[in-house]
Amino acid sequence: MITKYVFNAPKEGKKFLVLAAIHGNEQAGTKACERLKKELTSGKIVLKSGRLTFVPICNTKAYEQDVRSIDENLNRVIKEHSHPKTYEQQLANEICQLIKDTDYLLDLHSTHCKDDVPFVFCDYPNELSQKVMASLPVDYVIEGWPEAYAGTAIQDYSTEYAAHYYSKAANTLECGYHKEPEAAEIAYQAIINTLAVLDMIEMADIPQFSKKIVKMQEYVIKAEEGKLTQNYKHLDAIRKGEVLAVYDNGQELTAPYDGCILLPNANAAIGTEWYYLGKFK
Ligand SMILES: [Zn+2]
Repeated sequence: MITKYVFNAPKEGKKFLVLAAIHGNEQAGTKACERLKKELTSGKIVLKSGRLTFVPICNTKAYEQDVRSIDENLNRVIKEHSHPKTYEQQLANEICQLIKDTDYLLDLHSTHCKDDVPFVFCDYPNELSQKVMASLPVDYVIEGWPEAYAGTAIQDYSTEYAAHYYSKAANTLECGYHKEPEAAEIAYQAIINTLAVLDMIEMADIPQFSKKIVKMQEYVIKAEEGKLTQNYKHLDAIRKGEVLAVYDNGQELTAPYDGCILLPNANAAIGTEWYYLGKFK
C-alpha cells in the first residue's frame, strides 16, 4: 500500500528512513521528498555511503482527501497489528517493517496554524538522535512526551515509540505551518543536514542550530465546555497564576508554574487534550 523510494550508495553505511504525510494533510515533508527524489535521480545529490529510504506519502488515502486520517490517528497506532482493523493499522504494519530496517528515522510533520513555530520532538534521546538534532534547522526541542503520559492508560504508539521499541534512533520534526513554503524548505534542509551527519553525503561544514529545550510536564483534558482565555500559540510563555482557560461554570484553570503552553487546541472536543504545559530546561 505504501510507495517507498530506496537509494543505495556504492559503499555500506547508515540506513536512513524519512517518513512524510503520516498525517495526510501535512504535505511539507512530501514536497521535500519529491524535490530530493529529483535531485538524487538527476545526480545533483550523490550518496557516498549507506541507504536512504523515503516514503513521501505514508497515509495515501488521507493525503488524497487532504484530511489528517481515515479511521484513526496513524501516529498513535505504529506497532505490529496481527489483525489490523483499520486502514491506519494496515499502514502501521508496513511502516513498522521499514522502521525495523533502519538506523535513524526522521518523521516529517507540519502544523495547521499560521505562524506556528517549527520544532523537533525528541521522545527517546540517544547519542545518534542528539547528534542529528543539533543539525536540524529549528530553535526548539520538546522532550518528555512519554513521561507526560506515563502512568495513564494512554499508550502512545508513535513512530518515535516504534523506533525506540526496535532500538533505533528517531526524531519527529514539526516544520511549521504546512501551507507556508518555508515549511517544505525546513523539511528539505533537515533531510540534507541529516544525510551529512550520517556521513551519507559530502558536506564541508554541517550547520549546527542551538536549541531551547522545553520539557513537557503534563497535559490538560478539557473536562466540559469552556474557553481558552487568549488566542494562545504553541510555545507561548506563561506565568505562574496566569488564567489559561475558563469553564462555562466559572472555574478557572491557571498556570501552575512559569513556563510555556504547548499545542493549545482551542477547538478541543470534551474529554480530549486541551493544551500541554512545559518548562524551559
Ligand atoms: Zn502530524
